[in-house]
Amino acid sequence: MNEVLDKKYNYLTNFFKTAIEQQRLFHSLILYGSNNYIQYAVALEIARLLNCKEDGSENCSCQNCRWIRENRHPAVMTISKIDNKTDSSKTVISEEQINYVLNTLFNSSDFHRVFIFCDAQMKNLSNSELKEYNEFKSTGFNPPQENNNDEIWYPKGINTTCFSTVAANAMLKSIEEPQSDVTFIFLTNNKDDILQTIQSRSQPFSVPDTKIEDYRTDFFSGYFKNYPQFNINSALDFANCLYSYQTENNLEPVYIIDSIQYYLLELIKANYSNGDLVKIIYKDIEKTQQTKKMLEAYIKEQTAYEDLAFYFCKR
Ligand SMILES: [Zn+2]
Repeated sequence: MNEVLDKKYNYLTNFFKTAIEQQRLFHSLILYGSNNYIQYAVALEIARLLNCKEDGSENCSCQNCRWIRENRHPAVMTISKIDNKTDSSKTVISEEQINYVLNTLFNSSDFHRVFIFCDAQMKNLSNSELKEYNEFKSTGFNPPQENNNDEIWYPKGINTTCFSTVAANAMLKSIEEPQSDVTFIFLTNNKDDILQTIQSRSQPFSVPDTKIEDYRTDFFSGYFKNYPQFNINSALDFANCLYSYQTENNLEPVYIIDSIQYYLLELIKANYSNGDLVKIIYKDIEKTQQTKKMLEAYIKEQTAYEDLAFYFCKR
């Protein structure tokens, strides 16, 4: 049923599944990348994993899973300038709308509430957009609004224009002091389109628009032969290997880190029953998130790779 998510993004959904099981998922997440439909599907999948009353399996038909697939679950709300509006403005996510969201949190709920923030519009889709829409539909999830004549709900990344500083600031307290049964998910094309104060309190995840088959791990996997042990004598070699592969193939450094994350997530899958090892892998993945942050802060790639290599040796 969930073929696209399962085949292309299972490293991500497995990651969230493990994080939820270990209760280590932040209460505020940022999903960033270029394909907002896929981000939206990943966000709904997180909502499903948080609410499933069975084992969270992809074809679970418990009521929560069904409602979330149909996008009519009372506790899973899409917040955009055209979804769940409480006022008549259709241009921004308004402060009034945010206050409405926050007020709903005063009522107790049997569900884990998930609020998905994005930009959206109803539009006639171009051919390439239609392809994205069909891929989204093949995940088994539905958009929050029905098609209206030829117009289809189309998600876009949030930015400071459609989600103003005033509205974002109204949310800060809830993000700073989260309730255990509430998760906020922000979809964006670029993390920097989200207010710094929200960014710093959220866990960011890149949702790449590449097919999972595109991840190559063979160029560095040799260094992981004795994992979780990592040879300090080969740390610099490892960093050099990442850097040369990146430059020789003209890749973004974030791709290199995504490949390592993919490799580590596959390791989780292969060692699922070994709780201690899974914990180490999980920490290593958190470290790779930090490496991404370093790269985004324009720290030199080689320095960031060396930092990661020495972390592997010393932890
Ligand atoms: Zn279920």
